[in-house]
Amino acid sequence: MSGYSDRSVAIVGSGPGGMYVAQALLEKAPGCKIDIIDRLPSPFGLIRGGVAPDHQKTKRVDQKYTQTITENNNVRYVGNIALGRDVSLNELSAIYDSVVLAYGAPYDNKLGIPGEDKVGVFGSNAFVGWYNCHPDFKDLSPNLNISTAAVIGIGNVAIDVARVLSRTPMEMATTDIADYAMTDIDAATLKDIYMFARRGPLEAACTNNELKEMGLLDAATTVVDGSILPDDMPESMDDREKKVRMRILDTLKVLSQAKANEKRRTVHIEFFASPIEILGGERVEGIRMERTKVESGRCVGTGDTFDIRCEMVITCIGSRAEAIEGIPFNERSGIVKHQDGRVSPGVYAAGWVKRGATGTIGTNRLDSYAVTDLLIADFCGEKKPGPEKLNNLLNERKLQSVSFDDWLIIKMLEETAATAPSPRKKFSTIEDMIAGLNAAR
Ligand SMILES: Cc1cc2nc3c(=O)[nH]c(=O)nc-3n(C[C@H](O)[C@H](O)[C@H](O)COP(=O)(O)OP(=O)(O)OC[C@H]3O[C@@H](n4cnc5c(N)ncnc54)[C@H](O)[C@@H]3O)c2cc1C
Repeated sequence: MSGYSDRSVAIVGSGPGGMYVAQALLEKAPGCKIDIIDRLPSPFGLIRGGVAPDHQKTKRVDQKYTQTITENNNVRYVGNIALGRDVSLNELSAIYDSVVLAYGAPYDNKLGIPGEDKVGVFGSNAFVGWYNCHPDFKDLSPNLNISTAAVIGIGNVAIDVARVLSRTPMEMATTDIADYAMTDIDAATLKDIYMFARRGPLEAACTNNELKEMGLLDAATTVVDGSILPDDMPESMDDREKKVRMRILDTLKVLSQAKANEKRRTVHIEFFASPIEILGGERVEGIRMERTKVESGRCVGTGDTFDIRCEMVITCIGSRAEAIEGIPFNERSGIVKHQDGRVSPGVYAAGWVKRGATGTIGTNRLDSYAVTDLLIADFCGEKKPGPEKLNNLLNERKLQSVSFDDWLIIKMLEETAATAPSPRKKFSTIEDMIAGLNAAR
């Protein structure tokens, strides 16, 4: 018996934030019972529903998470159970010694400009969820039989969106993009995609690897105005930052050599432009942009405006968490209120619900390990009943949870349904996952 075998922890959310807490607990509190609760039957959050389908290598981090669950008898996956809908925080706190909230930040931030409610404006979470078969967004049905789309932002998510909209079925053959999305993207009359960045090339929020991919598309050209690209880095920038920025600048210079309209689609990268109004009647007909400049590190409007005709706007400007009843919430920043990850006695936050939508998968690892250290240091007093009690509660409520073995059956069904070289044909509704599972058992 190890020192922690009478302790139990519920982790709400099986994305990277939650999975790294589970990993840390296994290393640092051996014997502790860990239940990972997720509202979907499918685990691993944005690894499945966010990371771009043509980035299968990145998605492979799910193999490590799978090991965390399958190689340890003390870890359970309890899928298809939602905090706030099926169980409350009070109930979990009565069952487990600690509860870690790691339920992500899936609600798109708003631009806060007139016209944002027009038909044809989508947030990136919804749009990305649509092409990734996320059950919440499979019915989004964006109309791609348009001539121009505007993507707001030039972070990696914005680049994912522009790239996926530009790819051909051949380029996506090895991916698990939703069939309905690939069909629509390929049939689309879409010709031009504008990517707007508020700041300049030196502040671009994307990484160089993602940007480089934009120059390697089979049926789309990416262009940028070379005249606004600086030759040198500011003296004030430290050497490490200079190196990172120089690589991005070099890629932009390569892209600036390309010509618009040479291929089926053109992606136009526009720096120093901030949206001020979405134009049109009920539907989007255009976007009004204001030219900006960066002064002492701050982005300011110049008052000069220009309009671009477009029929769709996709905002890639970050996201916020859900305010779940009984959980203290910071409305302004859209995250759970916490102090270094401590929410209230025995309750912790990890991942994007704690930090907001920033950083890479790896950022969650460091952060979740730090939160787990606090959690273990706080273990004290009365021991709670643990996982058996959750089983009783779910049985009483007649809720069908999905175990990890169940998930492996669903996963196998998806893999069997795929046409090679695609790795899987994803289910896009919870009902279909459960029906498939019940039929296969
Ligand atoms: C479009 C997109 C692409 C990205 N691509 C990359 C990339 O290529 N490389 C990279 O390093 N990073 C990438 N990231 C960032 C990375 O995905 C995040 O850092 C990471 O997923 C955050 O982990 P999380 O666990 O906090 O949230 P999530 O991954 O969102 O996980 C939250 C989990 O909580 C569950 N949940 C939600 N509500 C409830 C509830 N009420 N009850 C129970 N469970 C609930 C969800 O179903 C989900 O499984 C990308 C992000 C986005 C949005």
